[in-house]
Amino acid sequence: MPPRLAVGWSRTLGRQCLILLGALALGLLVGHPWPALALAALCIVIWQQWRLRRLLLRLQARRHLPPARGTGAWNELDRLLHQSQDDTRSRKRRLVEMLRAYRAAAAALPDAVVVLDRNSQRVQWFNEASTRLLGLQYPADLEASVGDRLQPLPISHWLASGRHAEPLLDAPSPLDPAVRLSLKLIPYSENLWLLVARDVSKLMRLEQVRRDFVANVSHELRTPLTVIHGYLDMLDPEEQPDWAPILSEMRLQSQRMTQLVEDLLTLSRLEAQEATADEAVPMSSLLATLRREAEALSLGRHTVTVEQSDDADLWGSTKELHSAFSNLVANAVRYTPAGGHIDVGFRRDADGGAVLTVRDTGYGIPAAHLPRITERFYRVSTSRSRELGGTGLGLAIVKHVLQLHQARLEIESEVGRGSVFSCHFPPDRVHPNHESRQGAKRDQARPPASRAG
Ligand code: ADP
Repeated sequence: MPPRLAVGWSRTLGRQCLILLGALALGLLVGHPWPALALAALCIVIWQQWRLRRLLLRLQARRHLPPARGTGAWNELDRLLHQSQDDTRSRKRRLVEMLRAYRAAAAALPDAVVVLDRNSQRVQWFNEASTRLLGLQYPADLEASVGDRLQPLPISHWLASGRHAEPLLDAPSPLDPAVRLSLKLIPYSENLWLLVARDVSKLMRLEQVRRDFVANVSHELRTPLTVIHGYLDMLDPEEQPDWAPILSEMRLQSQRMTQLVEDLLTLSRLEAQEATADEAVPMSSLLATLRREAEALSLGRHTVTVEQSDDADLWGSTKELHSAFSNLVANAVRYTPAGGHIDVGFRRDADGGAVLTVRDTGYGIPAAHLPRITERFYRVSTSRSRELGGTGLGLAIVKHVLQLHQARLEIESEVGRGSVFSCHFPPDRVHPNHESRQGAKRDQARPPASRAG
């Protein structure tokens, strides 16, 4: 027990003993010790009850009562209670201030922040930016169903994916389709989720300007390059032997520039596209073309094998898929030293999808480069890529083509041993190839709903 409390308690005890002793002495004087003692004890009990009542009243009081003065156990208890009430009050005040500050900060955010109940998908709270960006109105939209309120955004479908919902990177605002939003879901408790929407219209416009710029520059460069190429072809090195090495270098460089421009235009076209063609892609003839291309590029320096182990074709754009696969095959030839092996394979996946693999026994790619290898102009070795005629855009084209086909690219590589590039297609993109031979239309093979996305 703290000394102050011990002193208070012993004082109260001491006082009560004194009262009892005094009463006993008085009782002995008048000849009735026991009634005197009983009377004193009764007084003590009444006094204790009175203090207990005061304490209970203090506990219940809404007003701020002053602390008790004086000594003794009851006064100490009173003071302790007063102190604890004071502490609780100031803690509560601090919490309320903090809550106000958090709310003010959330309200001042330029992004829309909406608190949702995960189970009922109803709006619990939202900040001011939600009115500007999502059209939510206070207080009418509190407890409103977020799916109904934020139409035409695919919110209900998106929320159903739960914690693993991928952010929606470019969605139209329900108020104005010209305003583009990026939406993110943040689960922060078992039942409450945060929906954060950011206005990315400016970013999207800049991205569009960048895309248009690259496409326009590439387009403008095409004509002068064709002219230069044409004139270079007219010059015969045999007529001017001194100029022969310069002419051949100029031809090589103009071919490289033409290839670069063509790749940039392909990439711009793919970026601008939202969906791809939906035709049957005959895989056996495509694989035969890839083999011919690999052999023509290799000029007998590599062993090329092609294997189609399953009877399946793809749905998609033959032209785009050919461009993606031939980029992978060209890379395999380019980055594999003479004497190496290049294997191209196409087979069904365990999940009903299909996978096209291009395997080589070439230089390989260090693991540190793999995460960025599909970025445009990203090269492991710029000098080697240029020397071998690469533009630095091949894998970016592959990535975009696969995205348009809802497929993904997987790369495994080991330096000095080689690389495997696998293009995984979902089951929806695969069909038995006899249908394509009969000229089957995809619409007949599958209900339209299964092609969404
Ligand atoms: P590039 O035109 O330079 O080949 P890509 O986008 O096709 O551009 O490839 C990017 C880089 O990835 C290449 O510069 C090369 O370093 C590396 N790369 C691609 N394919 C292979 C491969 N099969 N083996 C080793 N490195 C590769």
